[in-house]
Amino acid sequence: MSMKIGFVDLEELKNSINNQTILVSIMFANNEIGTIQPIKEISKITREAGVLFHTDCVQAVGNVRINVEEYGIDLLSMSAHKFYGPKGVGALYVKKDVEFERIQDGGHQERNKRAGTENVAGIVGLGKAIQIADYNLENYNSKLIKLRNYFVREITGKYENVKINGDLKQRLPGNINVSFPGVDGEELLLKLDGYGICASAGSACSSGSSNPSHVLAAIGLDDIYSRRFT
Ligand SMILES: *Cc1c(COP(=O)(O)O)cnc(C)c1O
Repeated sequence: MSMKIGFVDLEELKNSINNQTILVSIMFANNEIGTIQPIKEISKITREAGVLFHTDCVQAVGNVRINVEEYGIDLLSMSAHKFYGPKGVGALYVKKDVEFERIQDGGHQERNKRAGTENVAGIVGLGKAIQIADYNLENYNSKLIKLRNYFVREITGKYENVKINGDLKQRLPGNINVSFPGVDGEELLLKLDGYGICASAGSACSSGSSNPSHVLAAIGLDDIYSRRFT
């Protein structure tokens, strides 16, 4: 990863593909710092190397317009609840002619790839949620970007010691990640909560953990910027 912003290092990617590689999987946008990866450049590399490209678009679907052909994506996964759909349902896009083994034996549902009775209500909910997200995408995003830029301007203007993590351009519109060195994360959250402001000291998948964020560590932040607690 390139230091400080969180982009995948394309040279490193190129060099890490060898004759054992069958697939490269890279998240479209990061869930902690919102960095949107150079997907077209990545898929160019995988295409030239003759390997498949899967992208975890769980953060991106509903927030970014994704044309799988334009981006050169072979496989793409999404999760409904991240775009206001129901929990417990997701989808995998598979490009025509891409073959893969089923991971679970049993019935022949979902083209023989995933056994078990389909969750019809969940699936309909996913479809409806993406329709709504798609319809409102540009308006919603421009509103979010304005709010986010305002927030960044205010917070960096008012406090000397804050650090905005990740890139500000290639970033999910609704994401912001700020370090307050020397401030106890839990204490800050409690105070913000008192003002009715929701924030998080880490991603939901690492809630309860007191370890520094692995994402912030990976972009080269010192412990003082990536710790959740003092
Ligand atoms: C939330 C998330 C997941 C997990 O999806 P769930 O449906 O909540 O299990 C995977 N990848 C990314 C990038 C996410 O943000």
